[in-house]
Amino acid sequence: MKAEIITTGTEIMIGSILNTNSKFLSSKLSDLGIEPCYHTSVEDSVEKLSSVIRIALDRADVIITTGGLGPTEDDLTKETIAKVLGLELEKDIDLEHEIYKRFKRMNVTMSNNNRKQALKPKGSILIKNDNGTAPGIFLEYNNKKLIMLPGPPNEMIPMFNDYVTPMLITDSNIIIRSINTIGIGESNLEEKLKNLDIYEDNFNISTYAKSGTVEIKIIGKSDNKEALNHKINEKIKVIKDNFNDYIYGFDNKSIAEIVVDLLREKNMQLSLCESCTGGLISSKITSVPGASRVFDRAIVTYSNNAKIHELNVSVDTLERYGAVSEETAFEMAKGLLNKTDSDIVLSVTGIAGPDGGSKEKPVGLVYFCVMNRKEYKVIKNIFSGNRATIQERAAIKSLFEIQKFI
Ligand code: ATP
Ligand code: MG
Repeated sequence: MKAEIITTGTEIMIGSILNTNSKFLSSKLSDLGIEPCYHTSVEDSVEKLSSVIRIALDRADVIITTGGLGPTEDDLTKETIAKVLGLELEKDIDLEHEIYKRFKRMNVTMSNNNRKQALKPKGSILIKNDNGTAPGIFLEYNNKKLIMLPGPPNEMIPMFNDYVTPMLITDSNIIIRSINTIGIGESNLEEKLKNLDIYEDNFNISTYAKSGTVEIKIIGKSDNKEALNHKINEKIKVIKDNFNDYIYGFDNKSIAEIVVDLLREKNMQLSLCESCTGGLISSKITSVPGASRVFDRAIVTYSNNAKIHELNVSVDTLERYGAVSEETAFEMAKGLLNKTDSDIVLSVTGIAGPDGGSKEKPVGLVYFCVMNRKEYKVIKNIFSGNRATIQERAAIKSLFEIQKFI
């Protein structure tokens, strides 16, 4: 099934907002095994939207629009689509009554503009909006599905997740599972996957690289859900057996969430000392709700001076081996462990570039040391990419090393 996403709004066209709706919908549709083939953006104009809709009807099976469902003059999506399809607009009495009640509660008289919100193209179904006034609309026309969603992401996203997703997967039984990896490149992973006995009809297995991780996504379709589940689990087992060292989790749970959960489970406190990542690891940890129970502190020790004064790294070590070295990473972790009551600490020191590299110590070289009260492990990595990518990869790898160490 081919999909086209049409985002409407003059604000998008003139660059005053970023079109995040297309990105969100594309990713969700791919998850459902529906292929997003076209992204179209168009300003609030009946004429332009009409032509965009006609083109979409010609080339896509699923058409999703966002925006233009509100009560104001420039909200014209459903009117325009109804006109293009030659459908009348009919009033949804229940919805009109609901809007009426809402206005009555607020002690405001209902205007004609608001009445307009109770209209829908004949034969369509309204989709509940739990976070705003404009409902979405679902319409089947000549075997094509047209779905109109509101523009504000805080209304559109929950509406899609809660109501549209089930509408899109009613035809067939689909199971989607993800296996998340760190430390193996996408092309390498893909090549190795190709050698495994996991491919067959009705199963789509693909890889997606995103910020330091690679996701293996399995989408399976079958009328027999139980058999499908069994087959998918078999494939996951084969993948696990072959890539165990790289797998950090399943179904797109973030590595930071996994680490926080693990620390909580083991009742452990974590501290970090970051050089080249400048607080990025700490930021990932603290973005997880409930991190306060397991996270003690992070110190950004960027300069040599900070490493000496905050972590007691010896001047001799820094002079002899340099700030980016196994020895410094070790002493940073040791210093932090001595300074805190934490059960586990991690240090990271590296060269994020673009300057500062040498033949022996290239840009991207990063040392990590993860340590508890009994043992430690030093890890060396050379990451590729620009400064931001190296920092991101180093942060993700740090969390993976903490997970493995626990
Ligand atoms: P409203 O009732 O608020 O008018 P609507 O369904 O008519 O909702 P729009 O008028 O198109 O939707 O958009 C309302 C707001 O939603 C925009 O001002 C913008 O902040 C946000 N928005 C719209 N489209 C997008 C998009 N593609 N990506 C991100 N945000 C968007
Ligand atoms: Mg609007």
